[in-house]
Amino acid sequence: MLKDYLHKIKLCAACPKMCRFACPVAEVEKKERVTPWGKSLTAFLVLEGKLSYDDPDVVDTFYSCCMCKNCKSYCLVDDVDIPAMIQAGREEIVAAKKEPEEIKQFLVHFKEFNNPFGKDLKTPHPSLSPEGRGGLSDVLYFTGCSTLLDKDIFNSTINLFNKTGQGYSIFSDCCGFPLWASGYAEDARGLMAKVKEAVLSSGAKKIITSCPACAYMLKSIYPAIGFNLSAEIFHISQFIEILAKEGRLQFSRKSDIDTAYHDSCFLGRYLNIYDAPRNILSELAFLKEAAKKKEYSICCGAGLYHFKPKTAKGITDIALENIKQADAKQMITACPTCKRIFSEALADEISVKDLTELI
Ligand code: SF4
Ligand code: SF4
Repeated sequence: MLKDYLHKIKLCAACPKMCRFACPVAEVEKKERVTPWGKSLTAFLVLEGKLSYDDPDVVDTFYSCCMCKNCKSYCLVDDVDIPAMIQAGREEIVAAKKEPEEIKQFLVHFKEFNNPFGKDLKTPHPSLSPEGRGGLSDVLYFTGCSTLLDKDIFNSTINLFNKTGQGYSIFSDCCGFPLWASGYAEDARGLMAKVKEAVLSSGAKKIITSCPACAYMLKSIYPAIGFNLSAEIFHISQFIEILAKEGRLQFSRKSDIDTAYHDSCFLGRYLNIYDAPRNILSELAFLKEAAKKKEYSICCGAGLYHFKPKTAKGITDIALENIKQADAKQMITACPTCKRIFSEALADEISVKDLTELI
């Protein structure tokens, strides 16, 4: 509930806006109310009964956050967590049936195929048929939905498991993040309960994801709502490092192509994984860093494409400008969503690949 964040909201609403220039939404929309401070002040006035979810601007303010957590990197005020507060507000907006039409449409779209892309993602992957699964193993490759959309990431990850003799089984349903982040907490919980049952019955002790948002959901949100998966969660970049340290994986010869790495919000700011992808990349390519990197990396904008595409595109453009400053010939991400957004925006200007595709 939003009132659970009252103390933090008060701290933020009274702050001299130290993160003012950190918010990509505010940078694109140029409105005070969508800055992190503006969001907290709006939340405070809702809690004080001075504003309500009947006001479309209030609702828009709560949906004007790509949950990138960049404000947190500049915030010196303990415990202020804008995305968590935004999430709580969105849940209340949905409960009051006041969410924007685009969000309602998103839910309808999601329910058709149980993913945010509104299409069947499994049929094109023969390995996901029951007889084609990788067999019993205590390692579960949790593709989620966004990885299925990118056959190159899926195939290179499966090749990696096969090449290193790593047994695996596959789970390919959505982790629930898109519903949860949109404020559809009850729908998300229903989906997550099914995921939990499937994961527990698989007997997995290690879960590997390609998608950083899946890793964050499984590692942090599932246990937070009482869904213990009894397994260690790894992003694929961490697992590759383990395979290399165990001597099960040798990197191929280093290419001299200038390569920029983009830190995804969830892998970086949420999971604090900055070194693993860089350690791997530095064995495979000539790494050039973007001006804003690691905890200051700029969001690709993905979190807003469903309901504010113009703002999302503006954020993507800012992120690309940052990456282009590295003057690299290729861009590597460790997130299927970042790869999709940047590939579509860049066309053939710079090649965009996932880390696994280099191995
Ligand atoms: S997020 Fe932190 S730095 Fe930004 S306005 Fe709020 S308290 Fe201040
Ligand atoms: S999480 Fe990102 S989009 Fe949301 S308020 Fe913070 S900086 Fe802005």
